[in-house]
Amino acid sequence: MTVIKITDLEIFANHGVLKEENVLGQKFVLSVEIELPSAGTDRLEDTIDYGEVCVFAERFLMEKTYNLIEAAASDLAKRIMLKFPKAVRVSVEIKKPWAPVKMHVGCVSARAEALWHTAYISVGSNLGDRRQHVNRAKDELDENVFCRVVKTAPLIETKPVGYKDQNDFLNGCIELETLLGPLELLGLLHKIEDGDGRVRDIHWGPRTIDLDIVFYDNLILNSDELTIPHKEMKNRYFVLKPLSELAPYKIHPSDGRTVIDLLAETCNDGKEK
Ligand code: ADP
Ligand code: MG
Repeated sequence: MTVIKITDLEIFANHGVLKEENVLGQKFVLSVEIELPSAGTDRLEDTIDYGEVCVFAERFLMEKTYNLIEAAASDLAKRIMLKFPKAVRVSVEIKKPWAPVKMHVGCVSARAEALWHTAYISVGSNLGDRRQHVNRAKDELDENVFCRVVKTAPLIETKPVGYKDQNDFLNGCIELETLLGPLELLGLLHKIEDGDGRVRDIHWGPRTIDLDIVFYDNLILNSDELTIPHKEMKNRYFVLKPLSELAPYKIHPSDGRTVIDLLAETCNDGKEK
């Protein structure tokens, strides 16, 4: 592995929450670290040209106006990943030496990292043209610049679980590579659900499209908005069966069993019709 480091590149730009900052501008000091596999050669074309990175980063930070240096750092890190595909991990730090805090401070700064993550998204629909809803969700995920659909599982038809008085479901699973963090990904899934007319009334009730994050790398996360791995996945045939087509030997990070073992042991109803 090789790490290219750019330290303290000075850029005059207009980021900040205060209107004055957006109008007058100020100095930002940027550092970037890019991890890439060692090519083992002495040729520029086998690495990433740090000059190009400087020009790209400067243009990026001058063309847009962010309220937050956190958001600027996070977007810039992702954009560098996309622009320089040899990079496997990018870290961006933006310092703001003249931050308007009315005190003497060396600088304030924000750091963000970007790398490709693998997520498994469980997909379900039981209203209208179910196949069309599922395909639309897949296409919208693939069209997002920070996501790429790698594989999709064959769809299965299943009986509803929980609230039984509703249509049968079509269920599937998508393997996704994404630069988005888990909460950013959840936000995108909600946007796709809402854009497809999803109405949230009955818990576990009918839905045009339901998109759940089953796994995100080997992350274990328990927060109010998001639980990863998905809380119910171990009991749900309709999640495990399509998932097993894509990642049969993936180990549940807190349970320790593989997907096919979980599938063999699930006793949930909602089986295939
Ligand atoms: P369900 O998928 O259980 O039928 P919803 O789709 O209505 O229910 O989701 C309800 C909430 O569950 C979402 O708003 C989201 O904040 C939360 N949630 C928690 N963990 C996850 C996850 N892994 N994937 C998707 N949503 C999740
Ligand atoms: Mg859901």
